[in-house]
Amino acid sequence: MQPIGLYREETKMSRPIQARRLEGLDKNVWVEFVKLAATYPAVNLGQGFPDLPPPDFVKEAFVKAVGGENIMLHQYTRVFGHPALVTILARFFGKLLGQDLDPLTNVLVTVGAYEALFCCFQALVDEGDEVILIEPYFDCYEPMVKMAGGTPVFVQLRPKAAGAGKLMSSGDWQLDPAELASRFTKRTKAIVLNSPNNPLGKVFRREEMEFIADLCVKHDVLCFSDEVYEWLVYDGKEHIRIASLPGMWDRTITIGSAGKTFSTTGWKVGWTLGPDHLLKHLRTVHQNAVYHCPTAAQEAVAQAFQRELDHYGKPDSYFVQLAQEMQQKRDWLVQSLIAGGMKPIIPEGTYFMMADYSELKSEVPDLPDSEEPYDSRFIKWMIKNKGLVAIPVSAFYGTPHKRNFDHLIRFCFVKEEATLKAADDILRRWRLEKTGP
Ligand code: PMP
Ligand code: GLN
Repeated sequence: MQPIGLYREETKMSRPIQARRLEGLDKNVWVEFVKLAATYPAVNLGQGFPDLPPPDFVKEAFVKAVGGENIMLHQYTRVFGHPALVTILARFFGKLLGQDLDPLTNVLVTVGAYEALFCCFQALVDEGDEVILIEPYFDCYEPMVKMAGGTPVFVQLRPKAAGAGKLMSSGDWQLDPAELASRFTKRTKAIVLNSPNNPLGKVFRREEMEFIADLCVKHDVLCFSDEVYEWLVYDGKEHIRIASLPGMWDRTITIGSAGKTFSTTGWKVGWTLGPDHLLKHLRTVHQNAVYHCPTAAQEAVAQAFQRELDHYGKPDSYFVQLAQEMQQKRDWLVQSLIAGGMKPIIPEGTYFMMADYSELKSEVPDLPDSEEPYDSRFIKWMIKNKGLVAIPVSAFYGTPHKRNFDHLIRFCFVKEEATLKAADDILRRWRLEKTGP
């Protein structure tokens, strides 16, 4: 068999078309399930975006940026970040990281957290380098490591059984310290940490972070810390920034996203924070890839951060209010999933929830030989037959382990009450159809 995509008959070219680094990376769960969600009249708890409006001060900041007197906001701005935005990011996060941040060298604004991640891998991972990924992980880490020529090395968060009659929490999923330590080798260049974690919602505890940090220091390894859900932490849990732990500032790149922070995923404004000796290489990738991200969106995010700085920790802070609102939505979704016969894993953070749907499995035939994991086939059936969209959890595992976790699917709850109510109706009706009144 010819390697897929290398020689394409229709081009009449005999030379390889596709660059080798793209081999096996053509599938993407978002491309597939966003299309399905648009094709069927379904309630969409799939891709993670709010169907709620952003707060007024955020919308107003954008309107002012595009409609105000400063016509230069329609033009290019500084390549590594609009001056107003890098200045406020340095002030805001300098305090939280315990560092005196220089806006010009310790901050880089990117096209969403996606570009931030891409810059990390392209700039700092070489052919033959190993990068440790903690499963389940946000799906793009694996292809990004591979595109850089690196090798992903997986280590799993494993669930401990919850107490009898208790629901499992994302905190019950933990790394085995010995297993994690064994993944660090001479070839390890970096570890990717995502807390709060997508898709599980785990918020890593201080001791867990300290263990990871100690290994990074011991083995001289970098840490790419994806903190896009930093404000979405529940039940009084604390978001720890690994860059603030001893020995970590010099080796950590902290990644954030205005999409998650201000409920504006379409603006695609993200950032990296870190020491100049790391960020200067990310700047090289950035200047040769996208150059800079849209000026008006950066200006609006700068204004929004200024407002949050003025209200930091107060009851009317958006960060405080969003977390409260999401915790309530999380608790509603838990009840809906239970009513539908699923077993939710209660997330300590993010706006995602994984659930075990095993009791509903009989609805879709098991095809052990199918290349497609069961959860993916189950959700396609659920979209078409029940009108409800979720995301297969197998998408958040490396190829060797996809099937071990295909009894789980992920739901997103950053949704209007009406959307969550519609999902609740579907789940309860479905249960009734199965069990009778
Ligand atoms: N990291 C994680 C963990 C995510 O869930 C997402 C999804 N948006 C991203 C990075 C990318 O963020 P952005 O939309 O800002 O590119
Ligand atoms: N981060 C969002 C999620 O996990 C969106 C991802 C995407 O659209 N690529 O659902």
